[in-house]
Amino acid sequence: MVVSKASPPVTCSDSTINLEKGDPLVFGKYWKKKSDECSVVIQGWEFLSYLSDTSNVCWYMLPELKGAIQRLHHVVGNAVTQDKYIVIGTGSTQLFMAALFALSPSQTPDHPINVVSAAPHYSEYKPEIDVLRSAVVQWAGDAGVYDKNEPYIEVVNYPNNPDGTIRGPVVKSAAKGNLVHDLAYYWPQYTPITHQADHDVMLFTFSKCTGHAGSRIGWAIVKDIEIAKKMTRFVHLGSHGVAKESQARAAKIMGAICDDYQKFESIESELFFGYCKNILRERWEKLKGAIEKSKVFTLTKYPRAYCNFANESFETYPAFAWLKCEEGIENGESYMGKLKIRARGGPGFGVGPNYVRLTMIGMDDDFNELLKRLSMLSAIQISNSS
Ligand code: PMP
Repeated sequence: MVVSKASPPVTCSDSTINLEKGDPLVFGKYWKKKSDECSVVIQGWEFLSYLSDTSNVCWYMLPELKGAIQRLHHVVGNAVTQDKYIVIGTGSTQLFMAALFALSPSQTPDHPINVVSAAPHYSEYKPEIDVLRSAVVQWAGDAGVYDKNEPYIEVVNYPNNPDGTIRGPVVKSAAKGNLVHDLAYYWPQYTPITHQADHDVMLFTFSKCTGHAGSRIGWAIVKDIEIAKKMTRFVHLGSHGVAKESQARAAKIMGAICDDYQKFESIESELFFGYCKNILRERWEKLKGAIEKSKVFTLTKYPRAYCNFANESFETYPAFAWLKCEEGIENGESYMGKLKIRARGGPGFGVGPNYVRLTMIGMDDDFNELLKRLSMLSAIQISNSS
């Protein structure tokens, strides 16, 4: 068999492993241990109404969910909620669109507002905007090269999906701009909590905080009441609110995390964030070793920082591995394909095909299989050089 770095051997007789999506199944291990404490029973007569609390801007939000979100941020110390408005959505995906709607002019402008984010950026921002075919907002690509003198919205995502970097706004334009901070991964299993985020519009998601992506709960923390009202109106018109069954579950689970942290005798490594950080740390250490030996890819290097929540310094352990191909490999996604690994290539994130993203938060079996297939590459390097 002829083997070369540019073309891996197709010896994987096993099935394809799918590391393309960010399905947070790795956290299931923790929740299995907590099954009883986190169960929610909903009686047949409950949750008939569309309404929850008509005195709140976000009238469909259960008061217990609002309280649980505030409490969780207070315990973790990752975002300021005081004197802010909370708006919930069906995932933060819905709230992203709600934020664009709320930050755009109410009359159709002469030119649609440009929405930008520094590349590599989350691959769904562009399609989520394109699908609207809107005359009010349009996707305008990489914030790093935006030089139009036209109003814009910059989406800042930190730690960034796909590359795990901590970022700030980058647009340099004399025109008026608004910021949306997507903080889906600003939780202490992924990255040190170095500050309390305090931005005008911040998006969070239950999917990446606790791993309950199937409940489809996201929340926005918003400074300006008018923006919060418009975001609420968007969710009202799109889905008449958010399922209360999901809200009740999210409130219960957030409450259980906080209760554990506030118990006197708690052991950090057995609590949600510490337990999950240890899993991610272990995976990252194994992956770094395998990538280094493969000599086919390189990984982003992450600085250490002090985490105010965990009271220790550590590196970021992103939810995704962002691999750069070594010279001679032009297309990371198709290279992975030959190893029967489904991955997402650079172009979706606004960069070249020599980058590729793999999930780090999938099932153990898939992750272990990834390590096995990467180790085949290093075996080839060794046999080629001997
Ligand atoms: N923003 C980022 C950066 C994400 O990675 C995701 C999930 N992949 C979302 C937003 C959307 O999350 P949700 O499941 O709440 O819609």
